[in-house]
Amino acid sequence: MAQMFALMSHRNGNLDESAIELAVAADKINANGEVTAIVAGSGTELEPVCRAAAGLFHHVWKFDHADLSYPNAEVVRMLLSQVLPKDAVFLALHDTFAMDLCPGLSIKLDSAYTPDVVGIDGPESQTLRLIRQEYTGLVHAHVACDLSKGVILTLRPGSFEPGENISSQKEGRIVDKSGQIGCMSVRRRVEQVLEARVGDVDITKAEVGLQFGRGIEARENIELAEQLADALGAMLSCSRPVVDAKWLDKSRQVGSSGKTVKPKVYLAMGISGSFQHLAGIKGSPFMVAVNKNSKAPIFHKADVGIVEDILEFIPQMAEKLKKFQ
Ligand code: FAD
Repeated sequence: MAQMFALMSHRNGNLDESAIELAVAADKINANGEVTAIVAGSGTELEPVCRAAAGLFHHVWKFDHADLSYPNAEVVRMLLSQVLPKDAVFLALHDTFAMDLCPGLSIKLDSAYTPDVVGIDGPESQTLRLIRQEYTGLVHAHVACDLSKGVILTLRPGSFEPGENISSQKEGRIVDKSGQIGCMSVRRRVEQVLEARVGDVDITKAEVGLQFGRGIEARENIELAEQLADALGAMLSCSRPVVDAKWLDKSRQVGSSGKTVKPKVYLAMGISGSFQHLAGIKGSPFMVAVNKNSKAPIFHKADVGIVEDILEFIPQMAEKLKKFQ
């Protein structure tokens, strides 16, 4: 079995929680195999990141270079194409950075590229069987990759929950590989990073999240959702189309291009369950979904699914809850 590598995301010296998902997925590919975490960046903030990664992976390769100070996919691709073996099995989280990085990397390494993987069937001899979703989750596609030729795969956030085996701490070996960084001719530089506004509320602190999507249908219906949020003591947030329609502020958007929330209870009203939306929900909350389409992908994730029109359901539920107040 070829060597496995996992790309670590990190920020301000903190290893992103997605590292655990990568460890879980690597374990599914080869439970007895050794995995090398790749930590690329610049300066002293790499030290705590490497130590945290060493708790999850057998080896950690550290690459410290001024050009890696901001995660620029062009530069990371140059680095990885210099240091990865051609037959590497390379895992990364399916986020906008990996979408930028991995297609070009697979061309450089001449490897198979399988993005947005939601399941791994485990390898049979030299074939790795992966599951992807198509048509916004309505279809599962099974993909076979030849392991002897190298595979690059990105994992859909939230698809590989930690198991007991991952909780056992590893004592990975950290090796500084910065000396192996060759020539990096950067054509694309990040000039400035602007922090997103927190806005009028901080939805990331919500214990109970009431989120609604395009199914709310019109701006004037938002009042219904606000009444239910009040009755539940929930914080109101939404999917991206609601923000695009300017019905709510961007600070209330959950998802890969919005905020990441970690509620204990998550109520999804009129939300289809796109992976970009679900990427913003962490910590496996108890999930209740209401949608008038019984085939909506959100029902694959929900603990409780209710097939209803939210414009009828929300006022009735708010009314019932008032009786308990
Ligand atoms: P839809 O997919 O249109 O779903 C609406 C749902 O409501 C449907 O399932 C429908 O059956 C149901 N419905 C309609 N009317 C009713 C009713 N009366 N009662 C009950 N159910 C009803 N999306 C995000 O949310 N957050 C992000 O951060 C994000 N980032 C993105 C980043 C990129 C790069 C891209 C390309 C997309 C991103 N998206 C994001 C958009 C994402 O792909 C989806 O388009 C979006 O999440 C869909 O939102 P939705 O579920 O509200 O709408």
